[in-house]
Amino acid sequence: MTLKKLVAGNWKMNGLSSDLTEIRVIAEASRSYGQVDVALCVPAILIERASRAAPGFPIGGQDVHQFEKGAHTGCVSAQMLLDAGATLTIVGHSERREAQHETDEDVKAKAQAALGCGLSVILCVGESMKVRERGNAVTTVVEQLRRSLPVDHGEQAELAVAYEPIWAIGTGKVPTTREIAEMHDALRKLLIEAYEYAGERVRILYGGSVKPSNAEEIFRVANVDGALVGGASLKAADFMPIVAAAAAVS
Ligand code: PEP
Repeated sequence: MTLKKLVAGNWKMNGLSSDLTEIRVIAEASRSYGQVDVALCVPAILIERASRAAPGFPIGGQDVHQFEKGAHTGCVSAQMLLDAGATLTIVGHSERREAQHETDEDVKAKAQAALGCGLSVILCVGESMKVRERGNAVTTVVEQLRRSLPVDHGEQAELAVAYEPIWAIGTGKVPTTREIAEMHDALRKLLIEAYEYAGERVRILYGGSVKPSNAEEIFRVANVDGALVGGASLKAADFMPIVAAAAAVS
């Protein structure tokens, strides 16, 4: 099944009021690529201003708490993201799994909370270099996704999975297209096992050092339904050629 590609930017801890112009430029330029879904996941504090700066353009969070409200200092709930104007959120990014010690169970709960509120979700999985070198990448990542998958992937909201090898994030290193194909094929099988026919419609994004120079080759790999882009999403000049590459293969 051919799915509409999704190219989502992850701004991580980058972005001030002065960067709203860049968001506006990306949102405006994205209008020329109706065959691709484009989104930007920005710091929580910027969501409301980004949504106002680019009305109708999908703005997302980078994390969400699994509970609705309460004594969770510094955390942001799904309802708060929605209230600020977000339509999606990332969950389970490896930087959070590592630095905030988030477990697969936490990620599953966060995905369920977000989907339950009507937010679309990009759920990240990926292996370390140690695991890849041991030859266990596919089994490890499939197991990680199995444990992180929400029970129900929502009705209006949508689930996407992002395969992001930890060793490829921000390093300039990228797996071979064969390695990406092998992983995405295994993840697709798991999604079909978990959700039956609906598993065919879950987009599987690749993430990790996607750039204008390698995007098209990656998008041509079977079961690559888009990309989660970190560093190259901060400037329209880098991000839009990636969106254009997704459009070129659509
Ligand atoms: C990411 O952190 O989600 C990511 C893919 O980063 P980069 O594109 O910078 O490797």
